Amino acid sequence: MAHTNKELVRELREVGYIKTDRIAEAFMAIDRAFFVPQELQSRAYENVALPIGDAQTISQPLVVAFMLELLGLQEGHKVLEIGTGSGWKSALVAFLIKTSSQTSHPKPCMYSMERIPALSHGARNAIESAAPDLLSYITFIEGDGSKGYERGAPYDRIIAAAASDHVCEAWKNQLIIGGRIVAPIGESIVVVDKTGKDVFEQREYYGFSFVPLIKGE
Ligand code: SAH
Repeated sequence: MAHTNKELVRELREVGYIKTDRIAEAFMAIDRAFFVPQELQSRAYENVALPIGDAQTISQPLVVAFMLELLGLQEGHKVLEIGTGSGWKSALVAFLIKTSSQTSHPKPCMYSMERIPALSHGARNAIESAAPDLLSYITFIEGDGSKGYERGAPYDRIIAAAASDHVCEAWKNQLIIGGRIVAPIGESIVVVDKTGKDVFEQREYYGFSFVPLIKGE
């Protein structure tokens, strides 16, 4: 069992969930302990989901690694995240889209939606402690993400952290052609590629467990 962030990253590499150097770099840079409640600090690097209050959890590290590997983020991508939760994944996404100062990409940005305001505030505070330079890339939105966030659309990538029974139509509409959604559906993680206007290709990886996406409140 991992006792440091470095050991957690090594473990995720050994079991094959972290595949690319860039994702390993992101996990190294964003220490999970900042996103785990005080009373659970001793378990911050365990490869398990942990409670963060309001009946929600910080995701299991291998699930976050698996989803980020599938998402294929690049510098400069514009991203919508549904379910900020602890903010750990938000920070990892922001790290992966931020541009190095030498490149001429437009300033990257992401919108991170969360229906529980206390979690959204907690996530902002955690990122401020863990990686303050990333805050300028993230806009936190309090509200129901099942309708996406039209004002920021279109997105290169959309990632969800809570499971519904189908991929929300709004997310598909708010994606660029050539864009990708990675989302939990039931007990699967699905990857949806938008290959043309109203043309989508979907693949599915079975065998995961998520908190539910709560719609329409
Ligand atoms: N990756 C996050 C996981 C958070 S759990 C982490 O590692 O911390 C999923 C989150 O989705 C919960 O915080 C939950 O409140 C939120 N959520 C559920 N339904 C939602 C909805 N319709 N809109 C926005 N957020 C939602």
